[in-house]
Amino acid sequence: AGYGPDGVYRSPRPVAPIAADPELSITDLVLRRAAACPSALALVDAATGRALTFGALRSAVLVAAAALSSRARVRRGDAVLLLAPNCILYPVCFLAVTALGAVATTANPLYNPREIAKQAADARAKLVVTVSDLLPKIADLRLPTILLDGDGASLPNVTFYSDLVAGVQETEYRRPATRQSDTAALFYSSGTTGESKGVVLTHRNFIAAATMVTSDQDQLGEGRNVLLCFLPMFHIFGMSVVTLGQLQRGNTVVVMARFDVDTVLAAVERHRVTYLFCAPLVMIALAKHGSGGRYDLSSLRCIGSGAAPLGKDVMEAVANKFPDAEIIQGYGMTETCEIISLEYPQKGRARQFGSTGALVTGVEEKIVDVKTMKHLPPNQLGEICLRGPNIMRGYFNNVQATEFTIKQGWLHTGDLGYFDERGQLYVVDRLKELIKHKGFQGSTTLGIFVTDGNLIQVKRIVGRLTLSVEPWPKEKFYKKNSKIMHGSLYLSLFTGRLLLLSLKDCLSHAEILDAVVIPLLLPRYPDPEAGEVPIAYVVRSPKSSLSEVDVQKFIEKQVTYYKRLRKVTFVESVPKSASGKILRRELIAQVQTRGGCA
Ligand code: AMP
Repeated sequence: AGYGPDGVYRSPRPVAPIAADPELSITDLVLRRAAACPSALALVDAATGRALTFGALRSAVLVAAAALSSRARVRRGDAVLLLAPNCILYPVCFLAVTALGAVATTANPLYNPREIAKQAADARAKLVVTVSDLLPKIADLRLPTILLDGDGASLPNVTFYSDLVAGVQETEYRRPATRQSDTAALFYSSGTTGESKGVVLTHRNFIAAATMVTSDQDQLGEGRNVLLCFLPMFHIFGMSVVTLGQLQRGNTVVVMARFDVDTVLAAVERHRVTYLFCAPLVMIALAKHGSGGRYDLSSLRCIGSGAAPLGKDVMEAVANKFPDAEIIQGYGMTETCEIISLEYPQKGRARQFGSTGALVTGVEEKIVDVKTMKHLPPNQLGEICLRGPNIMRGYFNNVQATEFTIKQGWLHTGDLGYFDERGQLYVVDRLKELIKHKGFQGSTTLGIFVTDGNLIQVKRIVGRLTLSVEPWPKEKFYKKNSKIMHGSLYLSLFTGRLLLLSLKDCLSHAEILDAVVIPLLLPRYPDPEAGEVPIAYVVRSPKSSLSEVDVQKFIEKQVTYYKRLRKVTFVESVPKSASGKILRRELIAQVQTRGGCA
């Protein structure tokens, strides 16, 4: 199982050397391909057919970098917010930003203006790159903006991308002294604690992940692969695994703004796609629809799922519908550039669905008993802890959360899992309280403030306040947060953003005493809405007539659609253990046994 006497599991895969040059950037690594295969296709827009060869990609990136530097004044270390649906200019801009030693921070276009503003402020974005449809969402940011689509009428503070790059030559690009250890990007994730944090990913992290994710293709002696990227590029899965990692190998990435089964299958046929990386929801759609014999899918070698748990039943159903492709699963997280383990896509191998495969090359893992912290041998369940060159540097501006997550060089994933004796990793549950809806991170735990005489207990709040459950003297606590009033208890919903770090932003409701949000796992297959949705258990104040709809509306105003509470149940108290921990897993199990009726 690769389990050593030191309690560390090591990858059974052959070692793949990760580029060592300390001056190499992720842009350099990707553009190296331009020299090796300038006329091969790098990026293709599935909708328009517009394509960039590796040579054209190189020019586009260098021109964009030169223009961002000379005309938009982007400097080394500046953060640039990318807010756009997938398009071929998305990776071009990402690589142009990183070519300047600047930092790309990617946001979900479905976020509401408040959520976007929060991320822009936290990442200290200097510039926004977006599309015209999303302009209303960033109007209040008052940041210089580049619009990837359209041209013509001028808007204050807005430059069209076509104007930005017009007349700029790639020779104008001046490479800054970038090192592998420099920050390349800030991807936002809730990690093991509730609120959203900027995950600091270095050039080294991307370079390592790119090697890890493609080493099997080299081992199997595969030629140029063609991938379809409909997974959002703002998420690390779409950007690191499906885009940058593949481009760096000289593979072609066909870019799609959104997923629908027929368009995907038509694109597989048209572009002779060989690898399809999906999130579970897409797998469910594939399991349901298959190709119906309408498309020639003979090019398809492998369908891989990751980003959230996927049931065995769905994998089997996909395997039945696509008998000629290997169906594999992988496991990763933003903090690891989205790559930890992956099944080996080898045809004819005896299949046993359910595991997330073996560790990728270069990653080491420990399974740690959550109570005793002892390292566990195969077939024993514990927290998955990792070490490797793809592990983030830490959370941006958040020493406390970083120290909580990375201990003595080991990243504590907050996931529970085990290895079998063959070295296959099974991810069983999450210690952390994260709700994954269709692969997106959504609303998670609730911050809870409980008054007790002159003390206030701040529970489960991480960040500038406290990690412990220490009671706070009221005066000190109120000083920190003017919104909290005497005698009232508040509901604070972590919304996948830095919410409670600044308590003045905390969402509050005077009639709510205590609450917990848990994921409700909708039936995976064949339900089209499958995935986790947030539901809440809420304790009302004694005379409150608050209704389910009132609570739902209260939350709805604050968050994007997939974080809305699908169900609210009023309870006398939130079930907790003797140490005060919410009995989340028990609650989830109860809800599941009742068939989803809270
Ligand atoms: P994200 O940072 O959005 O990629 O979320 C990472 C988390 O998604 C992991 O820590 C896991 O909890 C979960 N996850 C990702 N891949 C899998 C998988 N194959 N099986 C189970 N959980 C997964």
